[in-house]
Amino acid sequence: MDDDELILDDEGRRVRSPRRRRRDDASDEVDVTCPWCFETMPLYVDPSSHGELVQDCDVCCHPWAITVSRSPEGALEVWIDRAQ
Ligand SMILES: [Zn+2]
Repeated sequence: MDDDELILDDEGRRVRSPRRRRRDDASDEVDVTCPWCFETMPLYVDPSSHGELVQDCDVCCHPWAITVSRSPEGALEVWIDRAQ
């Protein structure tokens, strides 16, 4: 069952919505370095996430303050700082 969202173009053809991303699109995964233990690991950023969020390091469990920003082209930028 293909329940992907489909839209119609001007000539009535069914085309996939360009806003929909494949699950294996690697652009939402970035390598980050923990500001506490300095381990580098991949961080998956949910496509709906933006702004500031807090997540614990998988290695040392210290809290990260993560800032997520996206350019108009959809490029992902992530900053990580020590959360208080
Ligand atoms: Zn860590």
